[in-house]
Amino acid sequence: MAAAASSKAKPVSDGLRLVMLGAPGSGKGTQAAALAGRIGVPAVSTGEMLRGAVAAATPLGRGVERTLAEGALVDDATMSEVVRVRLGEEDAASGFILDGFPRTLPQAAALETILGAAATRLDAVLQVEVPEHELVRRALARRRADDREEVIRRRLGVYRKQTEPLIGYYRERGLLREVDGYQSVEAVTAAILSQLAVEA
Ligand code: AMP
Repeated sequence: MAAAASSKAKPVSDGLRLVMLGAPGSGKGTQAAALAGRIGVPAVSTGEMLRGAVAAATPLGRGVERTLAEGALVDDATMSEVVRVRLGEEDAASGFILDGFPRTLPQAAALETILGAAATRLDAVLQVEVPEHELVRRALARRRADDREEVIRRRLGVYRKQTEPLIGYYRERGLLREVDGYQSVEAVTAAILSQLAVEA
């Protein structure tokens, strides 16, 4: 078992290029941050980047403020450019954990183009699965400015419609790894590390 895992393991020195996929409230952001510390690559959260831009009232922030407040998606071209620039930064050269991007099929295609231009590609896409009632409970418990119940439900609807098709997209490409997100934070991290065959 250990031998099988280690023969499958990719040396972490090569870096890892991961996408976290999961509904709002699935804990994918928490897991991205935990994994980033363990694996030594940056977690790139597009939601955090956008909220930071709104707080700093940059042109990007002013442009997306309303969309965020409504729980809708920022347009694909804007998001793809934000991610292209971010992944071009030095700390992402040997890997990254994307949290919140891609969220649509055009964004997934844009990511392939971005990585292809750098002669790299994704190593895996981790889908964190959590039942809907638990997603709503968690979202209500954490409540940010854009976390009113109505907005939470809208964001879940947007996820089902726009983002869930990515599950099939990445499954077809052999990249999808499913993880049970309905357990403790530590147990989810351990499950992901074992999926990746990275030594914990
Ligand atoms: P998150 O923290 O990932 O839930 O993102 C918060 C909000 O930022 C979302 O509800 C969207 O309005 C916006 N957002 C973040 N990432 C994306 C993306 N990849 N595409 C479109 N909108 C995004």
